[in-house]
Amino acid sequence: MIKFLDLQKINKLHQDEIEAQLLEVFRSGWYLLGEKTKIFETHLSSYTGTAHAIGVANGLDALRLILRAYIELGIMKAGDEILVPSNTYIASILAISDNGLIPVLVEPDLNNYNIDIKGIKEKVTAKTKGILLVHLYGRTVFSQELKNLAETHNLKIIEDNAQAIGAEWNGKRTGNLGDAAGFSFYPGKNLGALGDAGAVTTNDEDLAKTIRALANYGSNQKYVNIYQGLNSRLDEIQAVVLDVKLKYIDKENNIRRQIAKRFISGIKNPSVVLPENPQDEKEHVWHVFVIRSEKRDELQTYLLENGIQTLIHYPIPPHHQEAYKEWNNLSFPVSEKIHKEVLSLPISPVMTEEEINIIIDCLNQFQ
Ligand SMILES: *Cc1c(COP(=O)(O)O)cnc(C)c1O
Repeated sequence: MIKFLDLQKINKLHQDEIEAQLLEVFRSGWYLLGEKTKIFETHLSSYTGTAHAIGVANGLDALRLILRAYIELGIMKAGDEILVPSNTYIASILAISDNGLIPVLVEPDLNNYNIDIKGIKEKVTAKTKGILLVHLYGRTVFSQELKNLAETHNLKIIEDNAQAIGAEWNGKRTGNLGDAAGFSFYPGKNLGALGDAGAVTTNDEDLAKTIRALANYGSNQKYVNIYQGLNSRLDEIQAVVLDVKLKYIDKENNIRRQIAKRFISGIKNPSVVLPENPQDEKEHVWHVFVIRSEKRDELQTYLLENGIQTLIHYPIPPHHQEAYKEWNNLSFPVSEKIHKEVLSLPISPVMTEEEINIIIDCLNQFQ
């Protein structure tokens, strides 16, 4: 069986280094808000090129905290609108509604699955205060036009960088393209922890300070609370794991790029639509390799029968979820098509040559 993602094998790549670090934390007796987290934050901020990085409990919290901090700073208020792609993972949307802000869904571009700038222009109103830009599947979405549009309408650009750590646009890494970015280090992400973990990066010092306080009970100083905050911190244990793995992320993303290239040149089947490889290959880190087929469910069953595990990112569009009943009657045809047709093939830094060939051959034989 070719697993969709073999986390055991992925983490084994760095086993000795990680185990040594874990032992150090265990023996230190210091498990939260310590030196290890600070070191990882410093490395993450220099990796992304941002002035600040703040470790938090998970990716959803990273996004929630950014928006909450904008509210505390008086830049946003309940009822303001935030544009977000209609085909994103639900967490992007939850972060908005959880803060009393209004998520406004914008259709993606079918060619790259990322938010369509035409849709942004159509949906922006006087109440719009930000764009939650999701680099979906690991592909960067950014342009000068988008930047100008945000400036014209005075919109904050918040990157949901859960899937695209290490991707670049114009020589700058994701996490440093907008005003603030949320990262997820969920185990299956390109940079994965051994449990939940996340981070915020930004060049905005006021925002960074506010988020740091909000994530620690609204406090900058022990027992003095300036905000009604929450508890969302990165453990020292997760920080050391991430700090080891961060050193290898570029190498591992490059392996993903090589596999994606092999799939794109090797898979030749008229009933399969392949993802677009961007002209600048640095724009994609291939968190998932997503193909499309009108016979998606049949194809998934066929691949499984041939020992290839696949996943669907994502089977139900957010506007059809029970959690957002008020949207259930709305129509987003591009998203609906995507949700009906997409299928994610296995891709990871530990795939073997043989596995890559089996997947290509198998897809080429599907009728
Ligand atoms: C994984 C993910 C999140 C949420 O991250 P968690 O760490 O699981 O909370 C948010 N947005 C996107 C696009 C994701 O893929």
